[in-house]
Amino acid sequence: MRFIADSMLGRLVRWLRLLGYDTVYYPRIEDSVLLRIAREENRILLTRDSRLVKARELRQFLLLEENDPFDQLRSIITAFNLKVDDKLKNAETAAASSRCIICNAVLNNVSREDVKSLVPEYVYQTSTIFRQCSGCGKPYWNGTHPEKFRKKLLEILHIPPSP
Ligand SMILES: [Zn+2]
Repeated sequence: MRFIADSMLGRLVRWLRLLGYDTVYYPRIEDSVLLRIAREENRILLTRDSRLVKARELRQFLLLEENDPFDQLRSIITAFNLKVDDKLKNAETAAASSRCIICNAVLNNVSREDVKSLVPEYVYQTSTIFRQCSGCGKPYWNGTHPEKFRKKLLEILHIPPSP
């Protein structure tokens, strides 16, 4: 399942990527280009714009009524029956399937040495798992996946935490 989000959904996009969903996003983009990418790349358009979803060439979309990104995310998870439970219960698997929050590319496992020059010394010393974006090179480590985000999402989705 692949998404394209309109320019009003920047915060939501980061969270979809953290959950590992391929989501393209451009802060400034013409409606016609947005619709073309959705069609050509077979992506589901996520939008807050009720006018935009009337476009004839649009195939799949979800019109989001909510302002809050967490509420938007809950709507998407419900609408497309996304299986996020397992990912969220386990911080490790959650991080493993994440995409880069900046550029949407997949993350590769790398060694500590590979990213030594890119991460703070404290992180280098204390983290055990490192990943790096295959697109922009941004380094990720254990702590990058915001624990607060995971907990909040478990809570709003009413998923009981693992024992
Ligand atoms: Zn990246």
